Amino acid sequence: MPSLRQQIATTALTLTKYRDLLKRIQENRPNDDLSIVKKAYEYSLRVHEGQLRASGEPYLVHPLEVALVLAEMKMDPVAVAAGLLHDSVEDTTLTIVEIRKEFGEQVAHIVEGVTKISKIDFATREEAQAENLRKMMLAMVDDIRVVLIKLADRLHNMRTLEHLEPERQRKIAEETLEIYAPIAHRLGMGKIRGELEDLGFRFLDPESYEQVEKAVNARRKQGEVFLAKMQATIQDKLKEAGIQAKVESRIKRVYSIHRKLQRQRIAIEQVYDLFAMRVITRSLQDCYAVLGIIHNIWRPVPGRIKDFIAMPRPNFYQSLHTSVITEDGTPFEIQIRTEEMHKMAEEGIAAHWKYKDGPVSAQDEQRLAWLRQVVEWQRDVSDPNEFLSSLKVDLYPEEVYTFSPKGKVVVLPRDATPIDFAYTIHTEVGHTCVGAKVNGRMVPLRHKLHSGDIVEIITQTGHKPSRDWLGLVKSSRSRNKIKHWLNVHQRERSIEIGRKLIEKEARKYRIALKDIKDEDLLRVAGGYGLGKVDDLLSGIGYGKYSARQVLGRLLPAGATPSMVGDLEAEGFTNKPGTIASVVRRVFGDHNAITVKGQGDMLVYRARCCNPIRGESIVGYITRGKGVAVHSVNCPNVTNLMYEVERKIEVEWGRDESTPTSYPVKLTVYCDDRFGMLKNITSVIGDAQSNIRNIGAHTSNSQASVEIVLDISDLKHLESIMSGLKKIPGVHEVQRLQKI
Ligand code: MN
Repeated sequence: MPSLRQQIATTALTLTKYRDLLKRIQENRPNDDLSIVKKAYEYSLRVHEGQLRASGEPYLVHPLEVALVLAEMKMDPVAVAAGLLHDSVEDTTLTIVEIRKEFGEQVAHIVEGVTKISKIDFATREEAQAENLRKMMLAMVDDIRVVLIKLADRLHNMRTLEHLEPERQRKIAEETLEIYAPIAHRLGMGKIRGELEDLGFRFLDPESYEQVEKAVNARRKQGEVFLAKMQATIQDKLKEAGIQAKVESRIKRVYSIHRKLQRQRIAIEQVYDLFAMRVITRSLQDCYAVLGIIHNIWRPVPGRIKDFIAMPRPNFYQSLHTSVITEDGTPFEIQIRTEEMHKMAEEGIAAHWKYKDGPVSAQDEQRLAWLRQVVEWQRDVSDPNEFLSSLKVDLYPEEVYTFSPKGKVVVLPRDATPIDFAYTIHTEVGHTCVGAKVNGRMVPLRHKLHSGDIVEIITQTGHKPSRDWLGLVKSSRSRNKIKHWLNVHQRERSIEIGRKLIEKEARKYRIALKDIKDEDLLRVAGGYGLGKVDDLLSGIGYGKYSARQVLGRLLPAGATPSMVGDLEAEGFTNKPGTIASVVRRVFGDHNAITVKGQGDMLVYRARCCNPIRGESIVGYITRGKGVAVHSVNCPNVTNLMYEVERKIEVEWGRDESTPTSYPVKLTVYCDDRFGMLKNITSVIGDAQSNIRNIGAHTSNSQASVEIVLDISDLKHLESIMSGLKKIPGVHEVQRLQKI
């Protein structure tokens, strides 16, 4: 229990900070209602009571400082309140449910977002994934204020980093340089970025930091004198020209100098913009006027004039930059921009923010999309137009960022499932995937993954992919892997079936397959233009070649079967090519149906249901006759499918240029009245269909008319059927599967 004196000191400290906070919000947003901020302070005072920071200060100082940074960004009371509560769910007994009840949906939503991101320990994740991690953070956020609170939080933590262990310091500093500073940069928040970078650099590489700082300090005195002189000259000339503008000078930030020295491998003397001047004007026209005036005083360095006003940087930074050479030959940079551009450069997205009031609007959503895109942008592009056009093309990154249990970032398409995740890890993991845990909880394989999810795949040796998975996966990689597996295994299955068919056929000649020599099989395969016995067997399995023909070529001439073959019973002869020609005759165009993944298989329409183009169809590998294609509604399908391994996916061929017609039989139930037949035939004639056969039965002034007509596809059929149904006196039109 802290002493009374300590308690009083604590109260005095936090109360002062709290008053500062209220004052700052009132200055920046005089019309705002502060009751939510006051309430958030009271809650956070209560729940963080007794907690201390590493510095020994009361914990409450931290949320107060974070809130103050937010107030300085001119954020709204909702964001400031959320800032005060940002650590309360993770570190105290307060729950999101309570926050929602006491502070409303928005505050709760923001605190929830901040908490979610805090749970990801970016520092322990695999290296070299910084860009993915930055993207992930933004993909997880649907309210910009979450990011701004995270930045404010990080800023205060960096300002007080000295109190932590050196090991922690380095980790946090590294994370700051890799994740947070770049995000601040992409959001155009130059001021926060600068501070985060310098702090990060100081803790990560204290020696280099000190070296650069020393070098700058050695030049500081001289620089300041020089800057004062330049400033006076510019101010005089502006006055003469009647232009009102602020003239400021700045010394380049330590980290930024360090990077320049490293990148360009130069000495500090060669850094052009170590000391620089900034002219802040009242209007855009004045920017260009000032540029002219400056070039009149000093000679500009050729190639160093940059117009970021006409061509803003990707993060919307706008300014004119020029370098001039002073009388004594020193190169020197001057930036010229308006007040508004300056605010944008310093505050970035927060500069936009302050103009808005009220709840999150569609406009903010758009800004968020912009922001995500900006972060998406890996490098600064040289051509801002290129950036803007890409901004239009891809506003919403269609990606989710997930983690493996070991911390590897796995980038997947939006709506990806654990199967996609599994295939990304390894093909074999994909094939044998039976389930998944997301954030420690079991989920079904169709579960959609979200950014930040930690995904653990459960595998089972011997488990196999299923065709249904094709409907669950989102990435083309997993789709291809599954398809490939299915194709390979379909082939294995067809080899197996082919072998059985040959065996069965051979039994008719009382021969066992093992008695047939491999070289004989290979010879026959060669006769079909095949290089492998397996190709021959799979061809038989798929029905491309008949087992009988193959066997015929294997046996000595004159061998006779001891049983009547199946094919003869079907009315076919065993002359080569007969089946193919019959099949072609059956459906007219051999391109009409293709087997998925197998272009060259023999397929035919089953006669029990006569499917027509456009109908849902399913294939069945027959014994020796190729693939029978049934309508999925065909009653035979249910019976046939007990041999599931013979089922195969088929689809209507793409080639629709060759007109195909199918005979379809319809029965029209109608009144037996004068002119009925004429009505029926004219509907069919109008639909460009040809009647092959027509017949009628009548009784008690009711009739049933049976028509066989040529149909090109399902649409054609449907339009004729609906046309017939519209004829007065027609009660019902039925399609008969069997012709
Ligand atoms: Mn915090």
